[in-house]
Amino acid sequence: MDELPRVYPPRERTTTATDRASLLSGLNPEQAAAAAHGDGPLLIIAGAGTGKTRTLVYRVAHLIERGVSPDRILLLTFTRRAAQEMLSRAERLVGSSSGRVHGGTFHATGHRLLRTFGESAGLARDFSILDQGDAEDLMGLARSHLGIASSAKRFPKKETLHYVYSRFINTERPVDFILGEELPQFAEYSDQVQRIFGEYEARKASRNLFDYDDLLSSWALMLEKSDELATRIAGLYDHVLVDEYQDTNLLQARILRGMCRTHRNITVVGDDAQSIYAFRGASFRNILEFPKQFQGAAVVALEQNYRSTQPILDVTNTLISRARERFTKTLWTVRGGSEKPWLVTAKDEHEQTRFVVDRILELHEQGTPLGEIAVLFRAGYMSADLEIELANRKIPFEKWGGIKFLEAAHVKDVLAFLRVLDNPRDEVSWYRILTLLPGVGDVTARHVITAMLARAWDPAALAEFTPPARARAAHTSLVAMLHELRESPSAAALEGAPGAPDEGAVARDIARIRVLYDDILRERYDRPDPRLADLDQLQAIAAGFPSRGAFLSALALEPPSSTQDLATGATDSEDDHLILSTAHSSKGKEWDAVFLIWAVDGWFPSSRALGDDDELEEERRLMYVAMTRARNALAVVYPLNSYATPRSGDYSIDQLSRFLDRGVRAHMDRVVLGPPAPDPADVPPPPQQPLLDLRALLRGRFS
Ligand code: ATP
Ligand code: MG
Repeated sequence: MDELPRVYPPRERTTTATDRASLLSGLNPEQAAAAAHGDGPLLIIAGAGTGKTRTLVYRVAHLIERGVSPDRILLLTFTRRAAQEMLSRAERLVGSSSGRVHGGTFHATGHRLLRTFGESAGLARDFSILDQGDAEDLMGLARSHLGIASSAKRFPKKETLHYVYSRFINTERPVDFILGEELPQFAEYSDQVQRIFGEYEARKASRNLFDYDDLLSSWALMLEKSDELATRIAGLYDHVLVDEYQDTNLLQARILRGMCRTHRNITVVGDDAQSIYAFRGASFRNILEFPKQFQGAAVVALEQNYRSTQPILDVTNTLISRARERFTKTLWTVRGGSEKPWLVTAKDEHEQTRFVVDRILELHEQGTPLGEIAVLFRAGYMSADLEIELANRKIPFEKWGGIKFLEAAHVKDVLAFLRVLDNPRDEVSWYRILTLLPGVGDVTARHVITAMLARAWDPAALAEFTPPARARAAHTSLVAMLHELRESPSAAALEGAPGAPDEGAVARDIARIRVLYDDILRERYDRPDPRLADLDQLQAIAAGFPSRGAFLSALALEPPSSTQDLATGATDSEDDHLILSTAHSSKGKEWDAVFLIWAVDGWFPSSRALGDDDELEEERRLMYVAMTRARNALAVVYPLNSYATPRSGDYSIDQLSRFLDRGVRAHMDRVVLGPPAPDPADVPPPPQQPLLDLRALLRGRFS
């Protein structure tokens, strides 16, 4: 008889820092008091770089050391990356048991709870998640199904409808009110808009789909509408901690109240001056009203900044002092430093790029790792020129924010095939697939979908449809391919199915899909190669997942921000590389040297915000977030000649951002870029005494 292998479980790593005093010695007295706070609600409200996140890490460590079981702690952060980073820091303090803390975003946590408790809430198990683009498409389908779009001259587009819907969910204000406030030109359509929302809800329900907002709403409803469910869900955790609380919305506040209904052990940290997600329904009122919502909350304010030098703080303090309302205080630091932040004027975008790249190389030569340098900007497209130059000069970089890998059309196309296999009722993906076929447009696609719906999404309905002549061959191979894949092991590897999960199965599905799709892609794009490379990448990643469902859920919930994210499967790859990031995605991070480019009025603040005081205030806070990321060096750059583009509107753009007013500039060094050093090859050699008079010698031969 074969002997069974002996299982040797890894030992939990522990650290020697066991006595409380030494654990908290990395904190100042106010931070330490907050980290060691006993039970009950706690709010830390303090400015950038004052150690809020650090205190939260120590608090997690402290709780574990106090004997709280790590898996009964829930740590909610703004990104998955942030949670991972915090937990690995906690591990250095109290050992690997901190790895059992549940950390992640609100949405990911909501998703996990919905998978666990959904059946008790009457859900079928195999629901799928719509990302934003899919949700917009479904909204479009709901609209055309009701035949509303064609009757009105100017009716909100599907993106606008989805925006209003999402605001309705996240701000909890009536649709009428949102339209009246933000889109008065559509106010008269309120009834139709709400009918579309009704249809959208019905479609999601009958097709077993959830959008991002549902993940939060469902979590809140499970806590509020069933005592028994609430007890089970809230009973999972004894302590809930939240970072970046200023960017949560009313729905998230409701969730937290539900989660803490019995123990009230909630810690939140944040900075109202850094609230930058009002456009997604966040409200910094949440943080200001925390003491009211959680009676008896201890409130801690911190004013010492540990991140930046005093000259950098002089600039950022002045910048934020102009804010209309603000709770957190002016910051100070003991970190001296003689160099003021630079305000750099460039002639145009190319000169801006050249300056940034040259200066990065200079800092790098002086010993700053590339990973300690970041270039920040207001919107993703603003780094295009820089990206090209970095690629030319072979400087490795990673980009955060902006267009994401998974939003690329070709990646979404391939995922659509996997999705209909995972959930045959996924109408949005069917629509996407059908319109890929040559000669199949909106009308035909909707016609096929209606036929499929009528037959309860029976695969035969697609097979029996007679396509337009041009699509015949593609239709036949589509039907064959889907049939083949329905039988493949990646479907059987769903949770609960017998047999071990087959690691390569999802990747093989993608390879099979590409037999059909790669030709469509080559047909559609003039330069298919980079896109095909993206698909190779997707296929490689898929190899790590046990089933289609697991793969799709992971992608929908934790969208990687770059191909590199996907490639390593982790958030930070090993090699040293520069970070390019939107200001939004830089939140919570810090670097030795920070460049803020395109500090041009109409770009930052964005021209879209100019007409609205609240939006302008949010742009100011956003610039504050960007500039407070710097530890030792900060350079703000603005090109003088920038051209109006469709994205920037027709705002005339040759002036410095209004946020960098005279008072702010007084704390900066102005830098004007000189003409580039001449290329040695172009320079004529200096005049010299000839060594020889060749002509004379030649002439002399005959004289
Ligand atoms: P933000 O508002 O940008 O999120 P924050 O308040 O969360 O900032 P942290 O990121 O926690 O601030 O801390 C900023 C930097 O200061 C980090 O490098 C952190 O390690 C350091 N720091 C904070 N407190 C201390 C301390 N008591 N001693 C030494 N370093 C500290
Ligand atoms: Mg922080």
